Amino acid sequence: MRRKLIAANWKLNGSTAMASGLVGDIQDGLAELDNGVEVVIIPPAIYATLVNAALAESETSVGIQDVSRWNKGAYTGEVSAPMAHDVGCRYALVGHSERRELLGETDTLIADKVDNALSASLNVILCVGETEAQREAGAQDRVVGEQLKQGLSRVSDADWLRVVVAYEPVWAIGTGRTATAEDAQSVHAVIRQTLNGMGAPAEEMTLLYGGSVKPDNAKELFAQPDIDGGLIGGASLSAPDFLAICRAA
Ligand code: PGA
Repeated sequence: MRRKLIAANWKLNGSTAMASGLVGDIQDGLAELDNGVEVVIIPPAIYATLVNAALAESETSVGIQDVSRWNKGAYTGEVSAPMAHDVGCRYALVGHSERRELLGETDTLIADKVDNALSASLNVILCVGETEAQREAGAQDRVVGEQLKQGLSRVSDADWLRVVVAYEPVWAIGTGRTATAEDAQSVHAVIRQTLNGMGAPAEEMTLLYGGSVKPDNAKELFAQPDIDGGLIGGASLSAPDFLAICRAA
């Protein structure tokens, strides 16, 4: 049995008051749920300590939305993987399409970040996904395959089970347009095959879908054989919606 995972990507949203309130409400809801689903909350880095403290004594863990390609030194403004681990983060999101697009992150940079996160004992959630133009050209399998091969090129055999892959078609993120469950499943199957071809224990690895997951489409997506959970953006900012999604997993 693969582990099921739901991750909340708050992106650039939140405040001290919002973080404590939302985490409290999620905690209360999850206490009643107990369906064996692992939950990770990924707030902006500056709130990681606060969220981690609010999650103390619970099974829910905290993650970071990005890590630096450097671990320490004269790199003003950066936050490193060892620092994220030091303040209690257990997961690092790497290669989100917003960073690929808006900040020009390349697969080479992403491979460095994956390496740093794994070396710092963090679990990695690597995001992959095609743009709308790539989907229209029927290039999604090739694009996603390339992102996986490059982004995960330096993962060692011992570390594969600390890697989670999130398939997030760019055209479905924050747009309200979700991939159909069949389209998502089809790319997830390609991801598992690609990982297998890379020598990873693909059948045991957790694969997430992300992109406008909502309470009303979560069940159908999570019912697909190769979808083991979700990376939730917008809907993770509402406790009732996020809990409904956790319930659907
Ligand atoms: P969304 O974001 O759920 O708001 O589409 C998902 C993500 O970008 O991780």
